[in-house]
Amino acid sequence: MKNNNNNGVTTSEKYKLQLVNNESYTKLLSNNRSWVDKQLQQDPEFFNTLAKGQSPEVLWIGCADSRVPANEVTGTKPGEVFVHRNIANVCVHTDMNMLSVLDYAVNVLKVKHVIVAGHYGCGGVAAALSNKQFGLIDNWLRHIKDVYRLHSHELDRITDQEQKVNRLVELNVTEQAYNLCKTTIIQNAWKERDDLYVHGWIVDIGTGLIKDLGVSANDAHQLGYVYEVQANEVAVH
Ligand SMILES: [Zn+2]
Repeated sequence: MKNNNNNGVTTSEKYKLQLVNNESYTKLLSNNRSWVDKQLQQDPEFFNTLAKGQSPEVLWIGCADSRVPANEVTGTKPGEVFVHRNIANVCVHTDMNMLSVLDYAVNVLKVKHVIVAGHYGCGGVAAALSNKQFGLIDNWLRHIKDVYRLHSHELDRITDQEQKVNRLVELNVTEQAYNLCKTTIIQNAWKERDDLYVHGWIVDIGTGLIKDLGVSANDAHQLGYVYEVQANEVAVH
């Protein structure tokens, strides 16, 4: 790039200056070199194998929080977990991003486990519990307020704020896992095969340990009647 801007500094020079002066950025690139060296020492064919394709058995739908990286907390390697993350691991049936990831994971990659993974101390859930405005994100967090409304009889009785946030974290994961089960993507897959599970997990950031909420689903019978869909039948009037 050789385009001059108004100060006579080329675009490439301008970007170069920015890179040199940003230590947290350049650290990522040097860390990458170290990581590549380490992988190759352990397995010279590591990247050749990785480049051939992926066949993960797990889809992880987690929070965007930087403290809950899917691979690290599950001790898995690149290629083993297909990952989608957003603020507070919300699964909304109008979210084309999430639905596209889910559809590809279930119908192309044929994953066996779809895991909604929340975490205690989730800032998104805590924000949803407050009455403050945070901007655009308020529209996203409203989905969690809906979860609160569904379970207000239980949550209103909890007086400790930290406990209330963490209980809503659990209920949010359960409801989002339930939302996945309502999709035609999951329900149609269940009609074709019996090895697909939807799970709800919580990562305890304070200990690093994962808690299985025990809300796993493997068929549509646990759904309310109104959410069940018939096999490949689209209503025509
Ligand atoms: Zn979070």
